[in-house]
Amino acid sequence: MSKSLQAIRGMNDILPEQTPLWRYFEGTVSRLLDNYGYKQIRMPIVEFTELFKRSIGEVTDIVEKEMYTFEDRNGDSLTLRPEGTAACVRAVLEHGITGGGQVQKLWYIGPMFRHERPQKGRYRQFHQIGLEVFNLDGPDIDAELIVMTWRLWGELGIRDAVKLELNSLGTSESRARYRDALVEYLSAHHDKLDEDSQRRLKSNPLRVLDTKNVDTQAVLVDAPKMADYLDDESRAHFEGLKARLDAIGIPYVLNPKLVRGLDYYSKTVFEWVTDKLGAQGTVCAGGRYDGLVEQMGGKPTPGVGFAMGIERLVLLLETLEQIPEEIARQVDVYLCAFGEEAELAGLALAERVRDQLPHLRLQVNAGAGSFKSQFKKADKSGALYALILGDDEMAQQVVGFKPLRGQGEQQSIAWDALAAHLATCVVQG
Ligand code: ATP
Ligand code: MG
Repeated sequence: MSKSLQAIRGMNDILPEQTPLWRYFEGTVSRLLDNYGYKQIRMPIVEFTELFKRSIGEVTDIVEKEMYTFEDRNGDSLTLRPEGTAACVRAVLEHGITGGGQVQKLWYIGPMFRHERPQKGRYRQFHQIGLEVFNLDGPDIDAELIVMTWRLWGELGIRDAVKLELNSLGTSESRARYRDALVEYLSAHHDKLDEDSQRRLKSNPLRVLDTKNVDTQAVLVDAPKMADYLDDESRAHFEGLKARLDAIGIPYVLNPKLVRGLDYYSKTVFEWVTDKLGAQGTVCAGGRYDGLVEQMGGKPTPGVGFAMGIERLVLLLETLEQIPEEIARQVDVYLCAFGEEAELAGLALAERVRDQLPHLRLQVNAGAGSFKSQFKKADKSGALYALILGDDEMAQQVVGFKPLRGQGEQQSIAWDALAAHLATCVVQG
């Protein structure tokens, strides 16, 4: 195929055999979010570039080198959203739904765009489910976010494969004091730092903690620790969070190097990581951002949120083979009809059954075909049962009911009794 007719590198089609797993994942998460009282919000995929510069921070990886930015026909600079928080904050400010101190518990789902090097678990168009909570400043809501994800991992059968890492970045004042101490220490070891870290030392020194370079990591061993600079309020907040996780029995590890990529975090930061996916091991990440709304022009409004990467979680489900058997099956019953008269009767019969069993996945054979070819299609569809309408069945006003998986003889069922019979043998989704 000519190059121009291929998808863009790092932007993937999600093919029909993959979508059942995506929908299972998305369905499980959205039901859970509903149950915890979160409401969905849908933002545009494109925003003014300025929004991301102001919220994410000019000297972050995302804004420096990962954004898809282009000029609109009228000269505005627009950007495909690299994450959801900025747009969500913009939306709540624009619609005034947090300004009076109202609590908002919001979630969103959709594609995000970052110009990164594509590899397993890292793409240029990827998908997140994210959530943001506004106007709650206590550790109880931080804990709720984590408890809820813990429940999700349990429901998905991947709890044993993920680990919670926690840190507190303190308030902006205590972080500033820590930053000064860190800069002083790292400046004294400037020559031992890798080039990237030397640059970050000037632009975004906390990010040096995040380095993958082993020489820089060695320098960091004796660096000042954020925990020693935490203000009392942040310390109490962090203790409150840990006490709640302890009470529920959610294990965690404290990771003083966890700083997150974006500028806007304060106090709690956390990541759920797995060692089952290679280098791209963070499946869900978030934290508190009490200063962000004000920084974006709103009233001071505490906020906390997280986002999970759907591709990585779907990969994890596949890797751990945690895919429920029913979700792979997309057809319950396949109706085969032979001859014109039987086809017409089959169509009407199928519609009657659908009236009575709206959740039944009933596929009617299309494109006619021999007995053999229709059966082959029925079998390939994954259906549990085939329904058969041939000359004999037409004459007796019955339908042949044939189990396709496992034991059981073919039976004849009267047309009128078909829906009731199917209701007893197919588990309703
Ligand atoms: P990473 O350190 O892996 O680059 P990040 O800190 O940039 O992640 P966030 O901005 O916190 O990621 O996004 C939240 C989640 O979205 C990540 O934990 C990950 O699961 C997913 N994610 C982020 N970037 C990508 C990407 N390029 N491709 C696939 N998933 C991604
Ligand atoms: Mg990243």
